[in-house]
Amino acid sequence: MFSSPEEVFEKEKKYMMPVYKRPRIVITEGKGATVSDSFGNEYIDCVGGIAVNAVGYCHPKVVKAIKEQAEKLMHVSNLYYTEPQVELAEKLSGKCGMDKVFFCNSGAESVEAALKLASKVTGKHKFIAAEGSFHGRTLGSLSVTFETKFRSVFEPLLLNGVKFVRYNDAEAIRKAIDDDTAAVILEPIQGETGVIVPSEGYLKEVREICTEKNVLLILDEIQTGFGRTGRWFCKEHEGVEPDIMTVAKAMGAGFPIGAMLAKEGIEFETSEHGSTFGGNPLACTAALASMKVIEEEKLVERSRELGAYLMEKVHEGRIDSNPVVKEIRGKGLMIGIELTKRCGEMVEKARERRILINCASESVIRLVPPLVISKEQIDRVISVLRAIIK
Ligand SMILES: *Cc1c(COP(=O)(O)O)cnc(C)c1O
Repeated sequence: MFSSPEEVFEKEKKYMMPVYKRPRIVITEGKGATVSDSFGNEYIDCVGGIAVNAVGYCHPKVVKAIKEQAEKLMHVSNLYYTEPQVELAEKLSGKCGMDKVFFCNSGAESVEAALKLASKVTGKHKFIAAEGSFHGRTLGSLSVTFETKFRSVFEPLLLNGVKFVRYNDAEAIRKAIDDDTAAVILEPIQGETGVIVPSEGYLKEVREICTEKNVLLILDEIQTGFGRTGRWFCKEHEGVEPDIMTVAKAMGAGFPIGAMLAKEGIEFETSEHGSTFGGNPLACTAALASMKVIEEEKLVERSRELGAYLMEKVHEGRIDSNPVVKEIRGKGLMIGIELTKRCGEMVEKARERRILINCASESVIRLVPPLVISKEQIDRVISVLRAIIK
């Protein structure tokens, strides 16, 4: 298709809006926890499609399921029943501990659905979100996203009536609630801001406040879901039950799909919401196959064990005592290494040594590799990190 990577870079620049800053490599294939570029160089991938490729790249069972479904029925619209959609609804609501599901195609869409639903069932219009939050880039989801660099140019279009309070401070939420507050929306661990893990008890306390004040709690598990933190969903660490929950990212093993789930009695009526593609049979088949792989290969447990292993190795390699390292934190295979300086240069250095990492916020290296990553691969990642952090 293209004669060289340079041609790809040139045409991308000519034809695409420059919203992404990318390194000058062209990724052509992926397998397990590795990807290859157009020269055949193989990289251990600790970005994992941004916490999407939990079951690894091109998992044969997911590939097979997609192929077979593609030959039968890819899309038929939500005007008709299809089996994969209903099968997934049952399986997903069971795993999430929720009652009803709405399918969509991305994280931001699931947040949109959650905000609309919370407004409609409460008849109220204000939301409380956390400083440092990231919930997506559509106008509604951006309204509850904190970072000014994402929002400032779009200001007048965003929902008004969103209050941002300090993350990890439940009392701040209590104070911010007023008579027109529909819901509080939180990530159980903040991902994009640099893997910020709140103190134990925070979510529980927020849950109690929301119940007491009769305000809905929306948990955004888009990044933390599907085994990433060593549980199917991060809320399980504390046994906290939200009223509404959003999921996407790892759900379809790379096939775009998202969902918004809610407890009994919190739901849309006919025509109040909808999506052309949301929950189409191909996407649902991919999600079903992906969830089956997570179960069969015990990837939730694996995430927990390998997360602990990685932390141990970080310690053994004395990465945590390096003066450049401010803090290392995380749960399962969702790990942030906060540095005392920007981490852009380290991302490049790691790539030269065939490890892909990225920065979540400017000074945090975020590791969210496929959950199928091996111990040997983790060892390699650690030895490279150790060398480049020096
Ligand atoms: C990625 C992410 C989103 C947005 O998902 P998209 O699929 O990019 O729209 C929302 N919330 C959280 C917590 C995320 O990590």
